Amino acid sequence: MANLNIDSVKERTFDAIVIGSGISGGWAAKELTGKGLKTLVLERGRDVKHNIDYPTTNMYPWEFKHRNEIPLAVREENPIVSRCYAFHEDAAHFFVKDKEHPYIQEKPFDWIRGYQVGGKSLLWARQTQRWSDFDFEGPARDGFAVDWPIRYADIAPWYSYVEKFAGISGNKDGIAELPDGEFLPGFPLNTVEKYFSDHVKKTYNNRHVISARCAHLSKPEPIHFEQGRVQCQNRVLCQRGCPFGGYFSSNASTIPWAMKSGNMTLRPFSVVQSIIYDENKGKATGVRVIDTNTKEVIEYYARIIFVNAAALNTNMILLNSTSNRFPNGLGNDSEVLGKYVAFHLYTATVNADVEGFTEFKTEGRNPAGGGYIPRFRNVQKQETDFLRGYAAGLGAYRSTHTDSSGVGSKLKNSLGSPELGGWGVGSHMMGETIPKESNYVKLDKDQKDEWGMPLLRISVDYDDNDHKMTNDYLEQVGEMFETAGFKNIRKEITKGKAPGLDIHEMGGARMGHDPKTSILNKWNQVHTCSNVFVTDGACMTSTACQNPSLTYMAFTARSVDYAVNEMKKGNL
Ligand SMILES: Cc1cc2nc3c(=O)[nH]c(=O)nc-3n(C[C@H](O)[C@H](O)[C@H](O)COP(=O)(O)OP(=O)(O)OC[C@H]3O[C@@H](n4cnc5c(N)ncnc54)[C@H](O)[C@@H]3O)c2cc1C
Repeated sequence: MANLNIDSVKERTFDAIVIGSGISGGWAAKELTGKGLKTLVLERGRDVKHNIDYPTTNMYPWEFKHRNEIPLAVREENPIVSRCYAFHEDAAHFFVKDKEHPYIQEKPFDWIRGYQVGGKSLLWARQTQRWSDFDFEGPARDGFAVDWPIRYADIAPWYSYVEKFAGISGNKDGIAELPDGEFLPGFPLNTVEKYFSDHVKKTYNNRHVISARCAHLSKPEPIHFEQGRVQCQNRVLCQRGCPFGGYFSSNASTIPWAMKSGNMTLRPFSVVQSIIYDENKGKATGVRVIDTNTKEVIEYYARIIFVNAAALNTNMILLNSTSNRFPNGLGNDSEVLGKYVAFHLYTATVNADVEGFTEFKTEGRNPAGGGYIPRFRNVQKQETDFLRGYAAGLGAYRSTHTDSSGVGSKLKNSLGSPELGGWGVGSHMMGETIPKESNYVKLDKDQKDEWGMPLLRISVDYDDNDHKMTNDYLEQVGEMFETAGFKNIRKEITKGKAPGLDIHEMGGARMGHDPKTSILNKWNQVHTCSNVFVTDGACMTSTACQNPSLTYMAFTARSVDYAVNEMKKGNL
């Protein structure tokens, strides 16, 4: 019996454990296994195998039972996820449904999740921009949160490293506040976007409209073919899972790569409840998991642990990892765990009509989505009555009129060749928010979910800075449209939008110099539990206004490199 136990412990012991298999967990798995570590990847959801588990990927519009709409009953049952723009019949199976995974909203917060192998990497919009020193120096310059313990120079080589493997399309635009990367060719702007880009260049000395940078293989390199991925076909059906691997997802890229190494064990249906801390050893020894099929509680052991469950889930796991040494959550001597949660401000749009250009139309689709206006407010210095700034998405399109009257051949013909209307242009805001102690998550003391995890209580709200920034966006982009000669300008604050729907929640286990005011050091390593690393959005000290996932990838690769070197030196 004793031998059986020893064998069983041996079977459950690995060099490294990764919690979560989404964008950051996939990278942790790839890097750890690539460096020869036997790695267990624990994923709470089901497995989703590239090319096998994309049931809708080749379906025609008419093959969807509800023409790709979500039926009213489903929407009524799932009001939170139904507010996500990507929640349609073709991808609904990759989204968490409200009822299945409840949480408590102390204040309205739309928490959008994807619980499966690959996490939200199957659903993301693939927008990928680097941060610059204007972002890493932000908290110190503007006096909020705590100083980032790193600067752009620390992370720049790691951006290059992950970009080459993931495949990022874009142009070398030479803008200091949005550093260039290792780009595959960018997707071109259309005629009206290009006109607007030229107009902005002529009219403003610090504003730019560039091709959106995104994780698509516009022209694959050998490293992408080696992953079994080929050129993006511009289908723009990405949220269904891409059979070409045309965009970066963990499923198409990092997870199969890690599997190929022979060093990865992937265990789906495994909810990590907590990290086990050994008081005598002064470090973590493993994790406690509940198998979602059998409800069996199992422990797994490893020398190092990477927590990559996505920002708020990672907070949950750390808060739930209590011991005599850490009664309020792993590494939480500072009591900041769960606090200083921030998000992105996707609260406003500006739309307009464009006169002329009717000799031009768009051909095909643009998977990058169009243009991107990098942040131009408060970059070099503080110049407005709010802190920080915003970027904006930009897209121009030619409208079509379809005469859907009649039946038979008349209807068929008019559907087949819709009449082209005029051009329109639209922009949406992507603002930075200021992390605050009053924006927090914590565990409910009484209520638990089906898997024995306390329910998460979320208390996150907008502030005055957000409102001022939103108004500035409307004013400034409105003015840019006006000076470009666009007509019928419609500025809109999105009504009743709660934080969270930007799907870029960050913080709670922030990085910092000082263990008294932060959870992680400059290597994403828990200050007071050196063999645990957090490299998903929970680590973020501030949010910048760039889309965050590329930065999580870079942090993860950098942190694994450090951890494995420390292991080799015998320090971990
Ligand atoms: C519609 C949409 C559009 C988006 N667009 C963009 C974009 O354009 N650019 C961008 O940068 N970002 C975008 N995002 C956000 C992006 O998807 C996330 O930033 C990214 O996926 C975060 O990576 P992650 O590894 O932290 O989390 P995830 O990718 O969510 O992966 C976390 C994984 O951990 C698992 N997990 C959670 N809890 C546990 C547990 N207790 N035990 C075991 N496993 C657990 C989950 O099931 C999941 O698989 C978008 C997201 C959505 C949904």
